[in-house]
Amino acid sequence: MSQTVETIMHFINGKRSAGNSQRQQDVYNPATGAVSGRVLLASDEDVQAAVAAAKQAALSWMETAPLKRARIMFKFKELIEKHHDELAAAITREHGKVFSDAKGEVVRGLEIVEFACGVPQLLKTQFTDNIGGGIDNWQLRQPLGVVAGITPFNFPFMVPMWMAPLAIACGNAFILKPSERDPSCSLMIADMFQQAGLPDGVFNVVQGDKVAVDGLLQHPDVRALSFVGSTPIAEYIYSEACKRGKRAQALGGAKNHLVVMPDANLEQAVDALIGAAYGSAGERCMAISVAVAVGDSADALVQALVPRVKALVVKNGMEADAEMGPVVTAAHKAKIVSYIEDGVAAGAELLVDGRGLSVPGHENGYFLGGSLFDHVKPEMRIYREEIFGPVLCVVRVPDFESALALINAHEYGNGVSIFTADGGAAREFSRRVQVGMVGVNVPIPVPMAWHSFGGWKRSLFGDHHAYGEEAVRFYTQYKSVMQRWPDSIAKGAQFTMPVAGKH
Ligand code: NAD
Repeated sequence: MSQTVETIMHFINGKRSAGNSQRQQDVYNPATGAVSGRVLLASDEDVQAAVAAAKQAALSWMETAPLKRARIMFKFKELIEKHHDELAAAITREHGKVFSDAKGEVVRGLEIVEFACGVPQLLKTQFTDNIGGGIDNWQLRQPLGVVAGITPFNFPFMVPMWMAPLAIACGNAFILKPSERDPSCSLMIADMFQQAGLPDGVFNVVQGDKVAVDGLLQHPDVRALSFVGSTPIAEYIYSEACKRGKRAQALGGAKNHLVVMPDANLEQAVDALIGAAYGSAGERCMAISVAVAVGDSADALVQALVPRVKALVVKNGMEADAEMGPVVTAAHKAKIVSYIEDGVAAGAELLVDGRGLSVPGHENGYFLGGSLFDHVKPEMRIYREEIFGPVLCVVRVPDFESALALINAHEYGNGVSIFTADGGAAREFSRRVQVGMVGVNVPIPVPMAWHSFGGWKRSLFGDHHAYGEEAVRFYTQYKSVMQRWPDSIAKGAQFTMPVAGKH
């Protein structure tokens, strides 16, 4: 007997919308392999409808005082707190990560909303009194109008929160195109914004795939695009948006290294690697996927890692003792397995093999155990490419300089970490490493809400990092105003450049 599954719709101008596209896609619960919903895939007309609603709403929203916008953010924050568990359950149901980790994701998103509550302060600018002849000069940070965000599957709540709260608090109307693999959170966000008092049309959701993304890229009224996802798509979004004169920030993929120096506290380094490599089944852009074992740290490190990887508790993320859930889809599981096969064929030593894991009662789920490779070489695909799964590669290097050179030669530069007891080595590393976010004895150095997030090299296309003050700059345009009042105007026309005082 076929079960009815929920249709996950668009949210346009304050209402759920079925749009006019006939295209849909199944959404799965990765722990069971069952279809949990069916998401609409927008047509270009659906995108047009969302942009038209956002454009209209932006007219009055940008005239709303920042303090009033901030008050809505305060209410939105309270609603996120109230619905914390429901949001986390929706994340686990469609993404697969363990419930406690999903709750953590909600908190990291909430922190950005807390930051956005301070928008009146953030929009303050500079003023110079009396630049000369009764003239004052100051700046405005004005909203752009309609802006859009395209988000990945791995943080269906947190990454939309990197974008929407600050874009909206700055006075823009926002269109979210979430991942079609776990779209339900987007509608919960829309409902909470509405309950918080956000006017219709200021936050909209267009569900879909490339058709929706291309519609947003090509629409002349979309002034800026924020993207988070894989590098080839990030590069596409950035170049297509720039070609059309839009602002763009496009955060891409990663291959994050954790350097273990010979003087590191081994126990701490191993704990860090286990959490950072296998948490969320490795499906984090800040996951550590390479352990760089320096000098004689390697044998002890590998010996300590093996039993810990074998002991990982892998099960349905809703079970309280689960440490790792399934990966997101059957196709993604197959891709990870093919990387493991490739690593074996290339000659890396597979010390723990996570393939073939079966979770009792969840035989159709997309589970993999943790995998651990030793003696991985920089030319291997498992080292060069982002696997985005629970696979940790150990690369052995003789010294600090070769660890640094290895990391700096990689095409990605998102996050990195060093474990050491030597402050001088840590300082040198932080200054010379070609990576955007650096941890010292910290496994996943995701910056706090007010410090902005972003990688270097092919991990980020654009010149602004996400959230924090960087986002305030990205979502506003700078205007300089120079003003003089009639009673101070000098009589008659002036033909020389006005200057401050005599030269
Ligand atoms: P993805 O690139 O497949 O998809 C991201 C978004 O782009 C989705 O909304 C998707 O619908 C859309 N999209 C996919 N193909 C497209 C196409 N051909 N044209 C236009 N749009 C398209 O990424 P994903 O698998 O959802 O997420 C995982 C990736 O995201 C990893 O590479 C991970 O490192 C990266 N990521 C990066 C960061 C960061 O901050 N740098 C954060 C989270 C995830």
